[in-house]
Amino acid sequence: MSTIVAISTAPGVGGIGIIRMSGEGCFEILEKIFIPRSKKKEKINGYTMKYGHIINKERNEVLDEVLVSYFVSPKSYTTENMCEINSHGSNVIMQKILELCLKNGATLAEPGEFTKRAFLNGRIDLSQAESVIDIINSKTEREAKASVNQLQGRLSQSIREIKGNFMDLMVDIEASIDYPEYDVEEVTNKRIEKTLIENEKKLLELEKKFNNGRIIKDGILTSIIGRPNAGKSSLLNALLGENRAIVTEYEGTTRDTIEEFVSIEGIPLKIIDTAGIRNAKDAVEKIGIEKAKKIANESDLVIAIFDSSKDLTEEDYKILNIIENKNAIIVLNKSDLPNRISEQDEKIKNTGKKVIKISAIKNDGISRIEKEIVNMYKLDKINMDNEIIVTNVRHRELIEKAIGEIEQAKVSLEKGMSVDIIGIHVKNILEALGGITGESVSDNIINEIFAKFCLGK
Ligand code: GDP
Repeated sequence: MSTIVAISTAPGVGGIGIIRMSGEGCFEILEKIFIPRSKKKEKINGYTMKYGHIINKERNEVLDEVLVSYFVSPKSYTTENMCEINSHGSNVIMQKILELCLKNGATLAEPGEFTKRAFLNGRIDLSQAESVIDIINSKTEREAKASVNQLQGRLSQSIREIKGNFMDLMVDIEASIDYPEYDVEEVTNKRIEKTLIENEKKLLELEKKFNNGRIIKDGILTSIIGRPNAGKSSLLNALLGENRAIVTEYEGTTRDTIEEFVSIEGIPLKIIDTAGIRNAKDAVEKIGIEKAKKIANESDLVIAIFDSSKDLTEEDYKILNIIENKNAIIVLNKSDLPNRISEQDEKIKNTGKKVIKISAIKNDGISRIEKEIVNMYKLDKINMDNEIIVTNVRHRELIEKAIGEIEQAKVSLEKGMSVDIIGIHVKNILEALGGITGESVSDNIINEIFAKFCLGK
């Protein structure tokens, strides 16, 4: 394969910059641009570093003083010969070193191409490769941990086991098709049934984990609804104040619903800033009860906020109705003012929801809301060390597809259909599972996955 090169450190100025190269010609190209301090001709050893200078030989110019790490095939990230040039973190210098590599025979790596090679060369499977991007993008400790688990191959291993069982089954099925005279139909059917049931159970377990996975990865989709002036924006600001996640820009953010990321005890909350509640003073009025209802329905969690210094109005009752069948917390705001409503109020009590009194402006009671959220989702109970957590929608869809095929196979079996038909379903199951680990995916999907990576990874 060609030798690729890219700047692997983030754009911007840093102490150190890393230019990474991978491919057969990697060390030859390096030799043309790097003069190690120690002139001793020695064999290149993997996992070693050399100190020296990057030189533009044409101009006899020293570009930088660097350290180069060597990785010898197959023991490298891509399994190819690789080197990483640690230069000073100046954009100009990194760019110049990059250009020098290009001039001497390397080609510019595409986003994710190093990881793609690791996958194509068989060091990691597709789900592991996908976890790399999740690790890089992770916003909370939990998310990072779930992704690292995936990189270590926990999900792959489990999928491979299930797949292995279906492969064995396929062999049985094919044998009974080819040599029906040796086969006792009843025995085969029993074996098929057992494999289907046992493995469906395992897949259902994995699918169940996706909800936790989605929350860990995407956050609990939360909306704050309430009448104008109830204190929605003050509450949002109070929640953001201490916890604003490092990443506030989020893929899919549109102009009319801004999403803010908050991390509460490591649990990400994606708060939908309903039509910019922080800017529009008359949010509910503006967005209307109907829209509030729609937003609430799309949310995992609704925080309904009321101004406790005022009597409940018709609008408030409507809001209480909206949250009736939702995961919701009732917040009575402005506890610093004389109260006109309390948790004892019939209409509020009847909802059966947790009621929390706060003063958004005095930052009082916010931690009680946070505690309640942690409680509701019991996320502290997710055992990150032992559980395999499915965080990727693509994986979930493939798991569901496999489950669907198992169901159909079960029906076919019950109806006494021929073993060929079941064989077709088993083939589809194998294909779905192979899509997770990457044995059966189209080039298009592979390209799509790696295009989401950053340069240099
Ligand atoms: P929104 O329209 O629901 O977003 O409400 P805001 O957060 O903009 O608040 C409306 C008004 O109530 C503002 O003047 C806030 O300063 C005030 N306010 C918000 N929270 C409190 C509180 O806890 N106590 C008091 N006294 N005033 C508050």
